[in-house]
Amino acid sequence: MTQLTQQAIIDRRQFFIDGRWTDPTGTESHTAVEAATEAPLGTAALGTETDIDIAVRAARTALDDGPWGRSTAHERAEVMRRLADALAKRAESTSILVSRENGMPIALSSAFNGVAPAALLRVYADLIESIDLEESRSSPQGITLVRKEPVGVVGAITPWNYPQVLAMFKIAPALAAGCTIVLKPSPETALDSYVFAEAAQEAGLPAGVLNIVLAGRRAGEALVTHPLVDKIAFTGSTAAGREIGSQCGRLIRRCTLELGGKSAAIFLDDGDIEVLVRGLGAASFMNNGQTCTTQSRILAPRSRYDEVVDAVAGFASGLRVGNPLDPEVTCGPMASETHLARVNGHIDNARRSGARLITGGRRPADLEKGWFVEPTVFADVSNDDEIARTEVFGPVIAVIPYEGDDEAVRIANDSNYGLAGSVWSSDEDRARSIARRIRTGTIGVNRYDIDLGAPFGGMKDSGIGRELGFEGLHHYFEYKSMYVNP
Ligand code: NAD
Repeated sequence: MTQLTQQAIIDRRQFFIDGRWTDPTGTESHTAVEAATEAPLGTAALGTETDIDIAVRAARTALDDGPWGRSTAHERAEVMRRLADALAKRAESTSILVSRENGMPIALSSAFNGVAPAALLRVYADLIESIDLEESRSSPQGITLVRKEPVGVVGAITPWNYPQVLAMFKIAPALAAGCTIVLKPSPETALDSYVFAEAAQEAGLPAGVLNIVLAGRRAGEALVTHPLVDKIAFTGSTAAGREIGSQCGRLIRRCTLELGGKSAAIFLDDGDIEVLVRGLGAASFMNNGQTCTTQSRILAPRSRYDEVVDAVAGFASGLRVGNPLDPEVTCGPMASETHLARVNGHIDNARRSGARLITGGRRPADLEKGWFVEPTVFADVSNDDEIARTEVFGPVIAVIPYEGDDEAVRIANDSNYGLAGSVWSSDEDRARSIARRIRTGTIGVNRYDIDLGAPFGGMKDSGIGRELGFEGLHHYFEYKSMYVNP
């Protein structure tokens, strides 16, 4: 581990535009700091509206005039597989870099930043070769050719919590469909996205197909509203999604929005507490709670309330908090000082609301540096309390009591969000029938782990559209009907 922490400073002072490393037009930069140690990681240039404009024009030209816009599905699939190989070669160093940037435990980072991006490229390469991009249907007048054409230039805007895989949720289907892309990653994870650029060069992705400009919110807005962009694929907070969605609505621009959540894990009165405890890591504490699907409301029947509170608190206090590069560590730091302050603010509000703090709530006593907070559990929380309604995005859980299955369903659905959830019961059928009543885009029964082959996304304020699976690819197509003669 000591070796891993002594990594050289990485500077990213250029953007990747039109297949080349390109100097910024502005002077702003972001200094990246390691979340666990506060040591400098490197410096990255921040793009301006002009940089975004240059990148969008490159993507437009690559689509309209370059080989990509006229490529076959097979040609694209071949490049995507080479890109997957190039990323796979870099998997270990990418995983370590992201863990240092945002505090993600290394095993999780290896899966989501190391393995998954290359795997997704291969899945979409296979998928695009297996589907009909021009289907012939007979009609009363003759024949209609129903074509799936690329939606066009995609502006992809991503958050910091799973930076590699969430970018690939967009890049892989966009490439498969024949789109070109401008990726604007989040400044909190300023350094890792340029790994895609190195891999793209190695794989021979044509110039302008994938452009990467690290930038803040203002330049992000310029990407959303740029006249040459056809679609925005956004993952981030509901507040930003609301802004972006309204801009896209005004411009009649296609957009998919993957937003926040306040998901519920419902423990039924016949649930096996051991099964819940085994599933809590993935359902409620994954990536230190910095996961959109975090089930931060645990609904427990009054008849077993104390037992559930004790089990959840026991799990939380048993997590090993520390440097995410240590494979024994199960809970790393928050991604930034600002985000830690936000999480602590939610904990303070919950304390003031009268919720009972069972465990955590402070900085771990043995960790002097880094953006750490103890895994925290509150009991006696009402679903109307701020801690039950607002996304904390940290390892902070509220255990909420209920009486009877109907009340559990009502409380779970009583949220502005609708992203994820789970139901825990010894009776699989009973759990499934409760799960069918929950208004969320995904839900687990006696487990919660995301299937990268199935549609993923949110209902209500958790978003619009789906990523992953064929359903995810669908958002990168325009459908065109050509009326022809037999
Ligand atoms: P954020 O909304 O602050 O930022 C996300 C990205 O959007 C960043 O790149 C940011 O620079 C950019 N951005 C912000 N405002 C913008 C605007 N008006 N125009 C254009 N770009 C803008 O979110 P964050 O703090 O980086 O990420 C955490 C949030 O993301 C949480 O709410 C989490 O639930 C959500 N999230 C959702 C999913 C999902 O799939 N549903 C997955 C991961 C994270």
